[in-house]
Amino acid sequence: MATEVADVTVANGHVAQDQIPVENPATGQVIAHVPDLSPEDLVPLVERGRAAQPAWEALGFDGRGRVLRRMARWLLEHQDEVIDVIRSETGKTYEDAQLAEISYGAAAFNFWAQNAEGYLADEKVKSANVLVKGKKLVTRYRPLGLVGVIGPWNYPLTNSFGDCIPALAAGNSVILKPSEVTPLTSLKLEEGLKECGIPEGVFQIATGRGATGAALIDHVDMIMFTGSTATGKKVMAKAAETLTPVSLELGGKDPMIVLSDADVERAANSAVYWGMFNAGQTCISLERLYVEEPIYDEFVSKVVEKARALRQGFGESGSADVGSMTFPPQVDIVERHVEDAKAKGAKVLVGGERGKGQGYWFEPTVLVDVDHSMECMTEETFGPTLPIMKVRDEEEAIRLANDSPYGLGASVFSKDVTRGERVARRIEAGAVCVNDALVNYTALELPMGGAKTSGLGTRHGAGGIRKYCQQQSLLVTRFAMKKELYMYPYNTRATKLLGKALRFLYGRGKA
Ligand code: NDP
Repeated sequence: MATEVADVTVANGHVAQDQIPVENPATGQVIAHVPDLSPEDLVPLVERGRAAQPAWEALGFDGRGRVLRRMARWLLEHQDEVIDVIRSETGKTYEDAQLAEISYGAAAFNFWAQNAEGYLADEKVKSANVLVKGKKLVTRYRPLGLVGVIGPWNYPLTNSFGDCIPALAAGNSVILKPSEVTPLTSLKLEEGLKECGIPEGVFQIATGRGATGAALIDHVDMIMFTGSTATGKKVMAKAAETLTPVSLELGGKDPMIVLSDADVERAANSAVYWGMFNAGQTCISLERLYVEEPIYDEFVSKVVEKARALRQGFGESGSADVGSMTFPPQVDIVERHVEDAKAKGAKVLVGGERGKGQGYWFEPTVLVDVDHSMECMTEETFGPTLPIMKVRDEEEAIRLANDSPYGLGASVFSKDVTRGERVARRIEAGAVCVNDALVNYTALELPMGGAKTSGLGTRHGAGGIRKYCQQQSLLVTRFAMKKELYMYPYNTRATKLLGKALRFLYGRGKA
């Protein structure tokens, strides 16, 4: 595959004094440079974004939808080029890029083009209150104006660029601050949006480091942030200074529970696939497994066999199952968790070592004899590790699954779906799958967001676009009453009647 990407020191027309080198993490080679925009550099972008927004809003859902639908086609026509760019800055396999980035992007452009209008349509409201009888009551959603999106490095299309799509569909202009580690995908997609006719200034990219993201918060009407819980807290604190609304999609430590009546083959396949997918660098990766005692040995032996068969690499499509780590310091975190577990008595059944050659690699790893004294069971690892813990029963599994400050996703495996769903409903997480994992993310109609310290707000579904809007309530008095209850001079007869009416309306219910 092509790993060379043109140097973009002057990315999308923005010039900056400092540059950020972008590495291919699979090889460790620098493949491009992008501008490191300072807080002052953001000012012209903000001005352009604000100036462009009213015309974009005025284009209406059909006009904006046409651009987004064209973009879905553009993405599919240019998918190999886009996959090359994604892979060059993330080190992921061809299949991981195709499945979780291209297919998500194409679906999302079409989904928001098709559904934005329905989710944001005016809603007629009926009120029981006699004071507003006969009046028109409506809630409507108007775009906030200029939205700032700050994204992480693990899915530069899906998790960074992806959140811009509903913001644009709603009629906002957007400034995206991608991770400094993976800015090239966003720049490539910006090219596509321009070819598809997005008006100048409606979508802009501010490449930069954390400080650029922090500065963006001061300028925009809303911040959509995806990243770690630690940074999410800083973003919320900064946004509080200007009372800027935030939506936060943060870290996780997703548990998988395998009950004694599970289809062990399916559970083991799911564990290995969804634990190692994208080298474990997915917010909703399976990060810790709890397996009921009667099937523990069988499950572990199947997982070990499957994990041993995984091929790691960065070749053509079909040549590898697991790619490299994307963010160099993440290798240290994964290694620290494995070493901590070993020091406290865990056994490594597969892998356990960082890669020895060029680039940033960690072997697919299976750990057993783990418990909650170990970092691998309590802190987000974000790497290709599967720590498996034996549990006595369902109750212990639920208790341990909930013993975490995080609450992003979870999964439960049982052939008895009633039992599986009952357990799922007791897990403190934003999304729980039964006999599956992670694929809930592809259902764009289904809200996705974290409980506890895993986030605030949701993406997808109605909430995934309404958050980019001001909910405005309208009350329209269509005809004037001869004597309103609430106008001077008081209509004392009507006020007395109101007293009786209130007793009739509200005073009869059982206390
Ligand atoms: P970080 O929190 O380190 O960074 C996220 C983004 O915030 C980056 O663009 C970063 O810039 C920027 N940033 C850093 N400091 C600040 C600041 N003070 N103010 C504003 N922006 C700032 O996360 P990672 O990139 O390491 O991503 C991995 C994390 O993201 C994991 O915890 C993962 O679980 C989570 N995640 C959550 C998802 C969800 O849907 N819940 C989805 C995907 C990932 P820069 O990179 O330039 O430093």
